[in-house]
Amino acid sequence: MKSWSLATILIVLNCLTNFGLALADAPRVVASIRPLHSLVSSVMEGVASPKLLISDSSSPHSYTLRPSDALTLDRAEIVFWFGPELETFLQKPLQALASDAVQISMVDQPSLYVLPGRNTRGDKLKIQDPHLWLDPVNAIAMVRVIAATIQQADKANHDLYVDNAERIIEALEKLNVRIKSDLAPLKNIPFITFHDAFQYFEERYKLNSVGFVLTEPEHISSAKYVKEITQQIAELRPVCIFTDSYFEPDLLESLASGTDLRRATLDPIGFMLSPGPDLYFDLMQSIIDSFTHCLGSFSHAN
Ligand SMILES: [Zn+2]
Repeated sequence: MKSWSLATILIVLNCLTNFGLALADAPRVVASIRPLHSLVSSVMEGVASPKLLISDSSSPHSYTLRPSDALTLDRAEIVFWFGPELETFLQKPLQALASDAVQISMVDQPSLYVLPGRNTRGDKLKIQDPHLWLDPVNAIAMVRVIAATIQQADKANHDLYVDNAERIIEALEKLNVRIKSDLAPLKNIPFITFHDAFQYFEERYKLNSVGFVLTEPEHISSAKYVKEITQQIAELRPVCIFTDSYFEPDLLESLASGTDLRRATLDPIGFMLSPGPDLYFDLMQSIIDSFTHCLGSFSHAN
């Protein structure tokens, strides 16, 4: 017979206890995408785990709701999301939810710093840029919103949420200071991004983005876009192009051939990372690493 180590038994017992506590009195909380789920998980640590809606590597821009997601939403007491500009698939299901379910859309929070989308500059209809988690200062404001909302729903665990929120905010403040100093030497080096998700990050750390290829990673293979990207590279002379996992490798090869354009990936959602309280910090670290790797040790010879 297979014998279990004491450590395994303790882990199993611990999981059972957590689950039991969660069933007994914690509110049922849902978060749309990994970075938001991570911050909610941190606030709820020691009480329960929130549900993550998009748990695979689908883009929130093009996700379609599954029957199991509909069930998760139906049972939710609190739903955190960014807003229809990001999770368009949630707009209708949320309207249909039970009226007493609390819905918090981050783009609507007055304490957050929200920028208009760069593609809508000339348009009459201003669309908000929903990628606001890529600024740790916004993440701090998000933690405050999350904690205030959950405290309201679960007064029994109020103090725990307050303590958790204070601890995360302190860590996020440190992270912000560290990114500032890590990226300061790179701030004049030109780059372009494929997916226009990094406006908040670029603005916070004063980085030299000279353009972006697409607003959102759809329709990449059309000839019009390929021509546009080739032109941007020739005119703007970026040192690096940042792509993401949706970018076709063949296209990137053909764009970069004959140039000394450096390439790196940026993953704004954290698809390669395990969901949970650490994800937000791991995600920001992976972005710092990408910038340092692609823009670092470049010298302006001319
Ligand atoms: Zn996006």
